[in-house]
Amino acid sequence: MQNDDRAHARRKFLRRWGALPVVVALPAWGAHAGDPRELIATPACSEGEEPTLRQVEGPFFKPRSPERTSLLGAGLQGTRILVSGLVLSTHCEPVVGALLDFWQCDNHGAYDNSGYRLRGHQFTDSTGSYRLETIVPGVYPGRTRHIHVKVQAPGRAVLTTQLYFPGEPENQRDFLFQEALLLATTDAGGTTAGRFDFVLKI
Ligand code: FE
Repeated sequence: MQNDDRAHARRKFLRRWGALPVVVALPAWGAHAGDPRELIATPACSEGEEPTLRQVEGPFFKPRSPERTSLLGAGLQGTRILVSGLVLSTHCEPVVGALLDFWQCDNHGAYDNSGYRLRGHQFTDSTGSYRLETIVPGVYPGRTRHIHVKVQAPGRAVLTTQLYFPGEPENQRDFLFQEALLLATTDAGGTTAGRFDFVLKI
């Protein structure tokens, strides 16, 4: 990446997240009342917002993942994380019914290519919000921690991208890493939460 691109990405990141109260009143893990909106702070979005950056799909996407908002399952090891946010248009309008299809490796860096472990799709609710319960993915050769996702407004083009984790030493060595795709993470009561708002070119 060129230095100019890095500087641009950093400015954009700071503009969106620099002064934002990211998470409020995070409930204890497993005890939440089920209303994802209580986790969503006012989005930092301005008219003409740039669409979320595209990234390569990579070799491990599988279609027809199960519909679910939790990828947690029996025997799954790793640090739990709650990822949430909004899907917005470039005019900052929430996108209702947008499809989000997530896939990631386990905490050892392995993808499930025979089944659907750590794979799942969901749709944004009436406020344009999504919420994903999962684990922090591991690393595998050449890649820093990341979660893959496809995002699609109803009847519109698919955005394929990846989300990253702040403070990871491998971020600077992964040529795909983009600061603009960092989750804004917080730690509340031992539960990690990550916030990311997607902006679709609609
Ligand atoms: Fe990957």
